[in-house]
Amino acid sequence: MNRKRILVTGGAGFIGSHLCERLLNDGHEVISVDNYFTGNKQNIIHLLDNPYFEIVRHDVIEPYYAEVDEIYNLACPASPIHYQYNPIKTIKTSVMGAINMLGLAKRVNARILQASTSEVYGDPDVHPQPESYWGNVNTIGIRSCYDEGKRCAETLFMDYHRRNNVDIKIVRIFNTYGPHMHPADGRVVSNFIIQALKNQDVTIFGDGTQTRSFQYVDDLVEGAIRMMATEKDFIGPINIGNPNEFTMLQLAEKVIELTNSSSRIVFKPLPQDDPKQRQPDICLAKEKLKWEPSVQLEEGLGKTIAYFEKIL
Ligand code: NAD
Ligand code: UDP
Ligand code: UDP
Repeated sequence: MNRKRILVTGGAGFIGSHLCERLLNDGHEVISVDNYFTGNKQNIIHLLDNPYFEIVRHDVIEPYYAEVDEIYNLACPASPIHYQYNPIKTIKTSVMGAINMLGLAKRVNARILQASTSEVYGDPDVHPQPESYWGNVNTIGIRSCYDEGKRCAETLFMDYHRRNNVDIKIVRIFNTYGPHMHPADGRVVSNFIIQALKNQDVTIFGDGTQTRSFQYVDDLVEGAIRMMATEKDFIGPINIGNPNEFTMLQLAEKVIELTNSSSRIVFKPLPQDDPKQRQPDICLAKEKLKWEPSVQLEEGLGKTIAYFEKIL
C-alpha cells in the first residue's frame, strides 16, 4: 500500500481522535499536533502503542516544521462554551493556525484539508444550505470569533491555492456527535445524554423549536477521507453532514427515551445569535464523493450513550 505521513492538528480532540484512529487503521503514519485546550490524551491513549503514531504538544499559532504528505487542519475549539472562553485566542487559532499550516503545506508540497463549519452560514435564511450560499453571519456578536475565524481561514485557503498553488480541500462540517465528545463542552447532544443518565433536568435553550441536523462521527471521518482523495482540481468547499433535521425538543425526548431516564425537560433562555435552523444540502457530496451518511440518529445516540455510561 501507499503509506502516507499524515499530520492531524487537533488530533487529541473529539473528531481528531477518531480521524487518527481511522488513518492508522488504514496503514498510514500519523502525527497528532495538539495543545490540549479541549482535547485530551485519554482520547488517543489506546493508539499510543502503535509505532506509526506520534503525538506532539504544540500550539498551531506558532510555526511548526515537519515533513508530511497530507495535513488535516482540525485545531480549534468547536463548542460555544470553549470558543467563547477566550475569543481572541479562538480567532488566532483559526487564522494564524491556517497561515502556519498553509505555509507548511506550501513548503513541503503537502495536500491540506481545512475543517470548516456550517457556522460559516451563520443564522441561514436559505434552507437547506448549499455550498453556494454566502451566509448570514453577525460580525460583532459572541459567536463571531468562531464564525469569522473559520470564514477567514477559508479565504486564506483559497488565496494560498490561487497564489501559491497549494493543494487544498475545504469541508464544511455540520453538527457532529459521538464518543470522545468533551463531557463539559456544553454541546447539546453531550449535555442531554449526561443530564438524562444522571436523571437531572434536561435543559432546552429557548422553546426547543430550533433545529439541527446531527451526523455521527464515523460518517464525517469517512466523508473527510474521501474528500482528501479527490482529484486535485476539486477543492470544495463541500458540505459534510446528515440531512435528517430534528428540533431540540425532539432530540430531548429521544435521548430521554433511549436512556430510560426519569429526567424532566426544562426551558432556559436562548443564547444570543443562536441559529434557528440548520440542514446541509449534500447533493455535491453525493455526486463527487459518492458519500452519504449511513448511521442514523437512534443508532448513533446508542453508541454515544454507551460511551458516556462508561466514563461517568
Ligand atoms: P474539539 O474541541 O474536541 O477538538 C479541537 C482540538 O483542537 C482539541 O484537541 C484542542 O485541544 C485542539 N486545539 C485547540 N486550539 C488549539 C491550538 N491553538 N493549537 C493546537 N491545538 C489546538 O472539537 P471537535 O468537535 O473535534 O472539532 C474539530 C474541528 O472540527 C474544529 O476545527 C471544529 O471547528 C470543526 N467542526 C466541528 C463540528 C462539530 O460538530 N463537532 C462542526 C463543524 C466543524
Ligand atoms: N511555516 C510553518 N512551517 C513551515 C513553513 C512555514 O509553520 O514548514 C509558517 C511560517 O513561519 C509563516 C507561515 O507558515 O509564518 C506562512 O508561511 P509562508 O511561507 O506562506 O509565509 P512567509 O514565511 O513568507 O511569511
Ligand atoms: N442547546 C440546548 N440545550 C443545551 C445545549 C444546547 O437546547 O443544553 C441548543 C442550543 O441553543 C442550540 C442547539 O442546542 O440551539 C445546538 O447547540 P450546540 O451548542 O450543540 O451546537 P451549535 O449551536 O453550535 O450548532
